[in-house]
Amino acid sequence: MDLPLNELPSRDRPRILVVDDQTTNILLIRELFKDECEVFMALDGEQAIAQCLSLKPDLILLDLVMPGIDGFEVCRRLKTDPHTRSVPIIFVSAQREEADEVRGFELGGVDYIVKPVNRTILRARVQTHLALKFQTDLLSSIALQDGLTGVANRRKFDEALQSDWLQCARQQQPVSLLMLDVDHFKRFNDRYGHQAGDDCLRRVAQAIRLSLRRPRDLAARYGGEEFACLLPETGLDGAARLAEEILQAIRALDIAHETSDAGPAVTASIGVAAIVPDGSAPPQTLIEAADRQLYQAKRAGRARVSAG
Ligand code: GH3
Ligand code: MG
Ligand code: MG
Repeated sequence: MDLPLNELPSRDRPRILVVDDQTTNILLIRELFKDECEVFMALDGEQAIAQCLSLKPDLILLDLVMPGIDGFEVCRRLKTDPHTRSVPIIFVSAQREEADEVRGFELGGVDYIVKPVNRTILRARVQTHLALKFQTDLLSSIALQDGLTGVANRRKFDEALQSDWLQCARQQQPVSLLMLDVDHFKRFNDRYGHQAGDDCLRRVAQAIRLSLRRPRDLAARYGGEEFACLLPETGLDGAARLAEEILQAIRALDIAHETSDAGPAVTASIGVAAIVPDGSAPPQTLIEAADRQLYQAKRAGRARVSAG
């Protein structure tokens, strides 16, 4: 009976959202999982959708027959919204008809359990789907992370740029981009070796990451010794200030670089651009603008910010 739910690879306790118009049903399920999971409740479909967006649960146990929108419709809506699409849904219903079960799977549910619930069956199925959810989350986070530095990789950056660009176009807000390139890094490798070079990149990435404050700011490794910071809803002044702070944080690492012309320690150059997308230009425009500024910063002597 005691399944090792708490041994699942998760940073927090798994979050389960239980949706049912009968409080007694919810309390029964909560009692079953309260030691290993955080259990949240919603009493109708609208509430379930709102809770799903704000809580980001790992699993939803969804009643079928409820006043207002029913469980099928809740499922359909959650599966069409990219923010909630990947949350697994188990239907928990008193409806025993095969057609209902079929419909549940067709709408994207992962399982269908009949009420009154058998505790062992419910626990086993919840555990299976939570384990799958965590493995999927883990795989997708690895697929979007740079292996050397732990910041986002190029694939994640491209995705984020695409979606921030569209969102800022809708809101008529600026998106800023910082393009950072470590100065004379070839010489650094030549003088100190590739291992030291890798270590330097890790520390630079960490300094960049710690300089970003807003949850939607993204630090990514763009390629080799180039990093990009994507700052939605941020104008040029704010972005340029942040770029100066990043340069300062990298200087403060004080990594010796005796063959650099730009200083005794490792430095970087940063190009900054900000654009309010107008809906017609592609996001590539922002990269090109930041790249031009980066080129200016290099040409003007490195170890500096160029913004425009
Ligand atoms: P500049 O100041 O003009 O940017 O000069 P630079 O030497 O930094 O630029 P260049 O593009 O000539 O050289 C980049 C170097 O970065 C060459 C490459 O070996 C090194 N590099 C790229 N990726 C890695 C990596 O993952 N690890 C290490 N150790 N070095 C890398
Ligand atoms: Mg480079
Ligand atoms: Mg370089």
